[in-house]
Amino acid sequence: MTEYRMVIGGDLVAAADGQTFEVVEPHRGTVVGTVPRGGAEDVDRAVAAAQRAFDGEWSQLSAADRGHLMFRFAEVVRAHEEELSRLESLQIGKPISGARWEVGQVAKVLEFYAGATTKIRGATIPVHRPGFDFTLREPIGVVGLIVPWNFPIMMAAWKVGPALAAGNTAILKPASYSPLTAIRLGELALEAGLPAGVLNVLTGPGPIAGGGLAAHPGVGKIAFTGETATGQEIMRTAAGTIKKVSLELGGKSPNIVFADADLEKFAATSPYSVFDNCGQDCCARSRIFVERSVHERVVELFARATEAVKVGDPSDPATEVGPLVSFRQRAKVEEYVASGLDEGAALVTGGVRPADPALAQGAYLMPAVFDRMTPDMRIAREEIFGPVVGVIPFDTEEEAMRLANASPYGLSGSIWTRDAGRAIRTAKALKSGVISVNCNNSVHVEAPFGGYRQSGIGRELGVEALDLYTEVKNVFMDIS
Ligand code: NAP
Repeated sequence: MTEYRMVIGGDLVAAADGQTFEVVEPHRGTVVGTVPRGGAEDVDRAVAAAQRAFDGEWSQLSAADRGHLMFRFAEVVRAHEEELSRLESLQIGKPISGARWEVGQVAKVLEFYAGATTKIRGATIPVHRPGFDFTLREPIGVVGLIVPWNFPIMMAAWKVGPALAAGNTAILKPASYSPLTAIRLGELALEAGLPAGVLNVLTGPGPIAGGGLAAHPGVGKIAFTGETATGQEIMRTAAGTIKKVSLELGGKSPNIVFADADLEKFAATSPYSVFDNCGQDCCARSRIFVERSVHERVVELFARATEAVKVGDPSDPATEVGPLVSFRQRAKVEEYVASGLDEGAALVTGGVRPADPALAQGAYLMPAVFDRMTPDMRIAREEIFGPVVGVIPFDTEEEAMRLANASPYGLSGSIWTRDAGRAIRTAKALKSGVISVNCNNSVHVEAPFGGYRQSGIGRELGVEALDLYTEVKNVFMDIS
């Protein structure tokens, strides 16, 4: 068991009052480390350190030099990919194959934004008055980055990359289930040569450490990923200082299958769209809508493919689905499975703890497929954040769109059809920020990612994310 430290102002520090909390891995339920339980004094310390760094060397660097340091940061992360992957896998029970993919994304994101530092541009504007008008895109200052536990280091990189590229300094607040890779990321930033205080890592309870950042007058912006209810709380807190807020929140994404689709391809690939990361994915395609004429066939193919998914020890490279993040999370998901049964859905497979005695000590649950789900059921309406999917048949394209859009969320979704006209029509009709056609790929480093409606505010990734971390200044010069 390791005693971890926060990263503040270039130093590895304990909480000011010396308090700690334990990180418990979900495969066997053992404690893998203790982490500082940051409080109000630590929030102040982190903000002061980030402000000092912003006022100092960081703001004096040219955009190109900032980019060079970020490329070096990406290189150092790559050199530690295996170590970071193992740590990620350990702390949240993510299968090592998924952890390797996730950590690989971190270096890619940092490289993308390292290259973007020199592409942040203003405009010259032909205003009505005689004179010269131009805009500058400037950093906001100190930004607070609050991230969840499902893709801990990747979600951190999605924010750290554009925040630093735009010239801000940052305080990263990881989720309490998964602070270990965030701490290592902060240490590696120092190893790569980023000046002290440019990237700080503050650990501690959400309402105190995260809430403290959201309330702090020295923080100019909060970028948050997590539950919709927490996002609402952060907006309320941030309102006190009119902070800029961007939010990546929950989802209840549809997978829509028309009768003319490649059903075999759909069934072979789609279990991963909902069961990957044990269903703890904001983009999880947890509602399947199937054209009635192929309903029975699709349920059968999908259930068979689900039963072939390998559930097991996260450290085994062959494992596709590991445990849920915690025993509490499993209890919550089991409650949803029970509610589906109570409300009359038919459980086709899964939804029970695995029979394998080697997994008995962990927070495991076999991937569950419900048929005969109806739109009014809790399992159809609420984000479960676990390995549960339900199937609803439809008769017409218009009905499919109505059912799919009947959700307060609007993050992602997939459409399966061989009819190009229908693909474009339905992609336009779906009220979601990210749509995939004949696949389930939602995330591309170079393309914008984010949600409609209660799935969020703003877009991460791509050049779009830079808008979240810059202020636009307009300058007009009288040249008469
Ligand atoms: P969460 O409970 O909302 O926590 C997210 C982060 O917020 C954690 O660091 C948490 O700290 C912190 N936090 C909690 N209460 C806070 C408060 N009052 N003020 C400030 N910060 C606070 O979410 P989660 O359970 O970690 O993650 C799952 C959720 O994230 C799901 O709803 C999922 O859909 C969503 N998600 C969305 C995306 C996306 O891009 N749209 C991506 C991934 C996940 P503690 O851990 O210390 O409580």
